[in-house]
Amino acid sequence: MMESAETALAPAVQKLAPRTPAAFTGKKIAVVGAGPAGMACAHRLAMLGNGVTVYEARSHERMQAAPLLMLEEEGAQQELERLTSSGRVRIEHGCKLGEQVDLAMLHLSHDAVFLGVGLAAGRVLSLTGDDAPGLLDAGRHLAAVHCTEDLLALPVPHRAIVIGAARGAVDMAARLKRLGAHDVTLVYRHGLEADGYEEQTARASYVRLRAWASPLEVLRDERGSVQGVRFEQTRLRDGRLVDTGGFTEIAAHAVFKAVGRAGDEHCQRDDAASRISHEGDRVRVDPCLRTALPGIYAGGDCVAPGQGIAMALRHGALAAHTIHADLQS
Ligand SMILES: Cc1cc2nc3c(=O)[nH]c(=O)nc-3n(C[C@H](O)[C@H](O)[C@H](O)COP(=O)(O)OP(=O)(O)OC[C@H]3O[C@@H](n4cnc5c(N)ncnc54)[C@H](O)[C@@H]3O)c2cc1C
Repeated sequence: MMESAETALAPAVQKLAPRTPAAFTGKKIAVVGAGPAGMACAHRLAMLGNGVTVYEARSHERMQAAPLLMLEEEGAQQELERLTSSGRVRIEHGCKLGEQVDLAMLHLSHDAVFLGVGLAAGRVLSLTGDDAPGLLDAGRHLAAVHCTEDLLALPVPHRAIVIGAARGAVDMAARLKRLGAHDVTLVYRHGLEADGYEEQTARASYVRLRAWASPLEVLRDERGSVQGVRFEQTRLRDGRLVDTGGFTEIAAHAVFKAVGRAGDEHCQRDDAASRISHEGDRVRVDPCLRTALPGIYAGGDCVAPGQGIAMALRHGALAAHTIHADLQS
C-alpha cells in the first residue's frame, strides 16, 4: 500500500488547500475518527467548501488528555479551530460508530463518509474481505445501492424511498418504478434543480417527489425490517442548508441512495495497491482511498496500519480531494 498510496497521493496532495475557506458547496460529509487521518480530511474538506461532522468515540475530556497531533501544514491547526467555531466543522465526541451511530445511516444522511478509525477498523466495520458490498444490503437493513444497474440484483420492494444525493437518484427512482415498485418517493435534502429535469423525469415515471427533507433515522419493526424513514425538514438560511426542527415520516420497505462513481482524474488505478489492500484486516481501498462502497472512503491506519502519522495526514488530505472531486462531478 505504501508505494502505491504515495504514488497516488502525490498529484492530489500537492494541490495545497485553499488559503481561505471556499464558498459553501452545500455538501455534508461525515468523518469517523478524530485522529490524524480524520482531522486532516475534515480540515481539507472544510477548506474546499464542504460541511463536515466528525464522529469520535472518545469523549472531549479523553481527547484533551491525550492529544494526538496535529496538522502539519502551516496554520492548519488554527484554521481548523476557526472552522470549528464557525460551524463548518462539527465534532461529536463520545459518538462511536457501531454504537451511537451506524454506518448505513451516516451513508444515507451525508453526501459521503470518510473512515479514519485507525486500527479499530476490522472490529467495528465489515468492510474488509469479500463481505464488503453486503454491509448495507437490501434485506433487513436499509439498502444503499450504488448504481442503477445494481437494482437488477435485488428484489423489487413494494414501497421504496430513494435519497437524492446525485442527479442519478431520479433515474434510479424511475428505474425502480419500471421494475415494478408500487410506490417510489424521491427525497432531496435541498430544493430541486432549476432545469426541471428531476421534476419532469419524476412526473413521467409516477415517482413522488419530496424536497427539503434530510434523513434522520431508519424506522424498523421488531424483526429489524425497514418500515420507513424519519426526515427532518430543511430550508436555506443565508445560502446554507439548515434543519428546521419539523419532522416527517415516509413509509417504505427499502431505502436506496444513488451514488455515482466518478472517474479517477487525479489517480491511476494500481493493481498492486488493490492486491495489497486485500491482505489482512484492513479496509480495502483504491489508490484514491475509495472503499468498495461508493460514497465511503477510508484512510490512515485502517487502510495501511503502522505507516505513522505523516501517512495518515496525507491520506486524510488525499481522501478529501477525492471526495470533493467525486461530489462535484
Ligand atoms: C504507542 C504508539 C506510539 C506511536 N508513535 C508514533 C510516532 O512516534 N510517530 C508516528 O508517525 N506514528 C506513531 N504511532 C502511529 C500513529 O499514532 C498512527 O499511525 C496514527 O495515529 C494513525 O492515525 P489514524 O488517524 O489513522 O488513526 P488513529 O490515530 O488511531 O485515530 C483513530 C481515531 O478514531 C477513533 N475511533 C476508533 N474507533 C472509532 C469508532 N468506532 N467510532 C468513532 N471513532 C472511532 C479513535 O478514538 C481515534 O481518535 C504510534 C502509535 C502508537 C500506538
